[in-house]
Amino acid sequence: MSRETEHVKCLIIGSGPAGYTAAIYAARADLKPVMYTGITPGGQLTQTTDVENFPGYPDGVMGPQMMEDFRKQAERFGTDIRFGYITAVDFSNDVHKVVVDGEKTITAETVIIATGATAKWLGLESEQKYNGFGVSACAVCDGFFFRGQDVAIVGAGDTAAEEATYLAKLANKVHMLVRRDEFRASKAMQHRVLNTPNIEIHYNTQAKEIVGDGQSVTGVLVYDNQTFAETLLPVTGFFVAIGHKPNTELFHGILDMDANGYLITKSDSTRTNIEGVFACGDVQDHVYRQAVTAAGTGCMAALEAERYLAAKEHAVF
Ligand code: NDP
Repeated sequence: MSRETEHVKCLIIGSGPAGYTAAIYAARADLKPVMYTGITPGGQLTQTTDVENFPGYPDGVMGPQMMEDFRKQAERFGTDIRFGYITAVDFSNDVHKVVVDGEKTITAETVIIATGATAKWLGLESEQKYNGFGVSACAVCDGFFFRGQDVAIVGAGDTAAEEATYLAKLANKVHMLVRRDEFRASKAMQHRVLNTPNIEIHYNTQAKEIVGDGQSVTGVLVYDNQTFAETLLPVTGFFVAIGHKPNTELFHGILDMDANGYLITKSDSTRTNIEGVFACGDVQDHVYRQAVTAAGTGCMAALEAERYLAAKEHAVF
């Protein structure tokens, strides 16, 4: 490790809507935030196409363009945005230590974690080929584009059940691909799916290939994993809802997290179990997972960091 060390008031890890919103607020509060973007500057939204549900964009916006707008706004108020990946953290002292790219050490009075979550994918080549062109990991974000059409969704947990019922309100028909002969989702969610007439459940069924015309999805080739019989379902949308993985490997054993690895924050707050360390966005939210809710908690994290620093400054020892 290099001996190069820099001290900052506010370090932001991650550059999705949560990180950039935290940066805008922290910069305007004169915390002189330094942001490390991670390996996907802009986060998950840079991998989507149209975003139509973020307030303030009446005509919609492309995900990468929206994140470019976030970046410009954060820079306008003086956020120091750097491309880099945090490789280690030490939160055992009053001043927190963070290592960037295994080389540089930063000491920070406050750290805002906005490292997000990563959608799990099936791993099919065709799935990546049509990602954003009929394939999506977010029904709430993209379901609207498939109004009146036939779609398929893969997964059998609470997310898949919730997204299938959401899609059923928009789509003509939803084919739900369940790889076992039963759901993982809670009974209440299962009931909702089973009582929705335009959801057809295909048990013991897996996707083999997403079929398309080079531009967009035209179907999905599925197989029964008991008989290996193949069927082509004519759908224009293919939703993957097999879970998300929060990007929290760095914080194992340091920050409190739930059984699925999501950071736990105090109620109505972004405070973690370590003083001066805050978490916002999808890394601590497995329920809503929307750009606008991530931005909201990013704002909260910056306000809480500012208040934490102010209280520290005025503390009498
Ligand atoms: P889960 O891990 O609970 O479920 C993932 C589902 O995807 C499982 O049914 C699994 O199948 C299936 N799956 C995984 N890999 C594949 C694959 N390669 N091919 C086909 N199917 C696959 O994830 P969720 O996102 O659904 O939920 C995460 C957590 O969030 C859970 O604790 C859930 O309860 C909670 N949640 C709660 C909600 C609520 O209360 N409203 C809403 C959404 C989530 P299998 O069952 O065979 O393993």
